[in-house]
Amino acid sequence: MSAAHSVLHAVFGYAQFRGPQQAIVSHVIGGGDALVLMPTGGGKSLCYQVPAIVRQQAGHGVAVVVSPLIALMHDQVGALHEAGVSAAYLNSTLSYEETQEVEWRLQGGDITLLYAAPERLNTPRFLGLLDDLHAQGKLSLFAIDEAHCVSQWGHDFRPEYRALTLLHERYAGVPRIALTATADALTRADIVERLQLEEARHFISSFDRPNIRYKIAEKKDVSNQLLRFIEREHEGEAGVVYCQSRKRVEELAQTLSQAGIAALPYHAGLPAEMRQQHQDRFLREDGIVMVATIAFGMGINKPDVRFVAHVDMPKNIEGYYQETGRAGRDGLPADAWMAYGLSDVVNQRRMIDESPAEEEFKQVMRGKLDALLSLAEATDCRRVRLLSYFGEQYGQPPDEDGRPLQSAARSTCGNCDNCLAPPALWDGTDAARKLLSTIYRVHEMSQLTFGAGHIMDVLRGKDTDKVRQYGHEKLSTFGIGKEYSEPQLRAVMRQLLATGALGLHKITSENSGYSFDTLSLAEGSRAVLRGEVEVQLREAVAASRSKSSKRAAKPNVAAASLGPDAQVRFINLKAWRAEVAREHNLPAYVIFHDATLAAIAERNPATLADLQGINGMGAKKLEAYGAEVLRVVGG
Ligand code: ADP
Ligand code: ZN
Repeated sequence: MSAAHSVLHAVFGYAQFRGPQQAIVSHVIGGGDALVLMPTGGGKSLCYQVPAIVRQQAGHGVAVVVSPLIALMHDQVGALHEAGVSAAYLNSTLSYEETQEVEWRLQGGDITLLYAAPERLNTPRFLGLLDDLHAQGKLSLFAIDEAHCVSQWGHDFRPEYRALTLLHERYAGVPRIALTATADALTRADIVERLQLEEARHFISSFDRPNIRYKIAEKKDVSNQLLRFIEREHEGEAGVVYCQSRKRVEELAQTLSQAGIAALPYHAGLPAEMRQQHQDRFLREDGIVMVATIAFGMGINKPDVRFVAHVDMPKNIEGYYQETGRAGRDGLPADAWMAYGLSDVVNQRRMIDESPAEEEFKQVMRGKLDALLSLAEATDCRRVRLLSYFGEQYGQPPDEDGRPLQSAARSTCGNCDNCLAPPALWDGTDAARKLLSTIYRVHEMSQLTFGAGHIMDVLRGKDTDKVRQYGHEKLSTFGIGKEYSEPQLRAVMRQLLATGALGLHKITSENSGYSFDTLSLAEGSRAVLRGEVEVQLREAVAASRSKSSKRAAKPNVAAASLGPDAQVRFINLKAWRAEVAREHNLPAYVIFHDATLAAIAERNPATLADLQGINGMGAKKLEAYGAEVLRVVGG
């Protein structure tokens, strides 16, 4: 057995490496540089933790893990301690004395993995320390976690990451492994350039998350839609609800709480202690729903998040994928649910238009938004589209060098809303042409642009004050769209905005100062008007379709297949785990995952030997908890 395998078994208690882990681990142990692209939950941590342990045992010293996730370092280090690995962190939360102690341990060669915030790499004091270690050959590797933070194209640019270039220059010869869960081609190229990883081997995994079910619904009354979704499908389970604004976060958290759901708000405007407290509760307690802005979640490695909901549309597919990826890290079934409507399209466009960025940058952002809109409007498999955005054909995962494996591409996944219940379609080509003609005529007559409401009124031949004020009832297009309902026309507009046939213009009223968005024809409108493109739309789903009754209380997903006796053992084990976690001030999953507890409950062990080989039961944990576990299942 290789050194890497013994570490995997003895320290982490896992039987096998997953996917490309083994190739990555041996490359880095051998001293090579690596760029690792792996989806959330794919198992990135082991890719540097195992090499760090193996290289330390071989006398190479400490591995430095650069991570922006300061709030999580305590738990990450705690998890390593639980597994019997010597680890520490350096960040702004430590006192002077604590920092000094870590530095002494570091100099004494007592630390295998050191987590450090990126800004440390800019301090002469820390660099001096690394210089000394390097001079003695005691720097075993650098791991750069969340590597997309180095790129301004990523959704989470951190200027401090730019300083990481110095690692290559100053510590030549020390292997570097950069890891991220999001990187389209642009971001990926940027990472390679910024971190000088030209020589690194690339390990690109399939980005598919087969256990996540994607669902995108039309937004109607979103708080109610969300409530029904949680009550029906995720009662008592942990989840994250993403909102665009702080105000919405607070309102929704309250609505959910009033409905008896254990919901907590999280956004950057809340006091730091409250944020920390809410995050701790989310990680440590069972079944908390976090209602949050995107300020929440980076690196939250809670494995049993059963759903991620977006009540507002995110900025782009990278963000959507990163956020939804926080569901189901444990590999058990999970949902990604999003509601979106015309207002989302309008808001996102406006945010881009009004941002002070360069035009070139705005163009990139618009392109990214368009890709997300076409995902939302799609009538075919969501997974196929998501993966193709990341350059992957579904069913043809790339090999470790990023080349597609030779197998047939697939066009359906069987685990998204469109695959499970193919939507009825209607041909919106005629409606789209009428809508565009109306916008054209109205502008021609009045030399003004108008909002969606007024355009629909003209098209549907409604007699309103505004129609008469502008004389729009005289237009040839007045009333030519009588047969279309407002929801249908909204769907047409969303699609036309998504495909670039329509553009938005902001108008500010001189009287009230109130501003609103108006519609105008854009580049793509010609092809639609000429009848060169078809506009296929999903049939609006009647709200009554969702009247199916509440699901019966369902057991924890990890324990779903256990018999009644094993269920009792599972529940007892969970109660015991909660106590241990509290004593150690760590999240429960750091002690044992649900899946490990379920496996113990199923095996019904009588001796320590019976516990061996259970996934997640490493040597240190067996020694520390084995006897206790036997007592708990023994009753
Ligand atoms: P990522 O950082 O890629 O999102 P993690 O490193 O947090 O993923 O791993 C996700 C989960 O999978 C963790 O709970 C981890 O313990 C588990 N895991 C990783 N590798 C393996 C493996 N080889 N066998 C079993 N479980 C694994
Ligand atoms: Zn599908």
